[in-house]
Amino acid sequence: MVSILLKKQVRTLLEQHGSDSAAFETEQILKWATGLDRLTLTPDSEIDGEKAKKAINAAKRRIKGEPLQYILGEWDFFGLTFRVGEGVLIPRPETELLVEKVLKEIKKDGTVIDLCSGSGCIPIAISKKSGASCYGIEISEKALEYFKENIELNKVRDNVTPLLGDVLAPSESLLDSLPEKCDIITANPPYLTAEDMRELQREVRHEPETALFGGTDGLDFYRVIFGKWKKRLAEKGEFIVETGDKQAETVRELMEKEGFSCEIIKDYNKIGRLVFGRLAG
Ligand code: GLN
Repeated sequence: MVSILLKKQVRTLLEQHGSDSAAFETEQILKWATGLDRLTLTPDSEIDGEKAKKAINAAKRRIKGEPLQYILGEWDFFGLTFRVGEGVLIPRPETELLVEKVLKEIKKDGTVIDLCSGSGCIPIAISKKSGASCYGIEISEKALEYFKENIELNKVRDNVTPLLGDVLAPSESLLDSLPEKCDIITANPPYLTAEDMRELQREVRHEPETALFGGTDGLDFYRVIFGKWKKRLAEKGEFIVETGDKQAETVRELMEKEGFSCEIIKDYNKIGRLVFGRLAG
């Protein structure tokens, strides 16, 4: 089948089901199914039956509400590619801000511990761009598989250590696998509220609840992690966390109570998105 016809079929399927980014998604699906890119995929490129079927099937999954990222099986974050799928949170652009902030603070020989790592996008991007040693803790075995795969894909095996564990109740063996002290602790913990969970977008319902739900008011993790993990920070060490839309002020208070001097960093929509705290020296 000729590419322009396939493109039309895919796009029509997506549009009929109300996708407001049908053009973009069609582009992504065609690129993925054919292995051709923007330059090599011309309107009259001949696409073999197998690949055309792959594209149509992807569009059919998409219109049933599956996230595009899971269908493609990978997604870009901070200019790097990460494998994603059922069982792991899809990296969000807001989280790139967290990585940016860490890169401003971290030294090449620095050490970072990332809590609730999921796909590993935070420690992998930090390590790849700075050379820092990063440790990532993730509670879900399924997510940890993606994390390990992403370490290989991004070739950071020497600098990123994936660990299975519960950051709210770390076991002795988990603690023994971590450095005594680190420079920065990062976290994008689950922070959605019970109300948020009831109103989840269709696509987000496919993502793991353990990566999203932060308790009734979404703050369960923030109440525990600053107190529990600050012992691992070196003098003047820093904690940097992502927060939900209305949480930054409260999270700042929780962090300040643990002896940090804090600052809130807003995202591109001018919403407080990160809380950054430094331990008094
Ligand atoms: N940012 C995600 C969302 O809006 C939530 C991720 C999280 O809870 N850390 O769905």
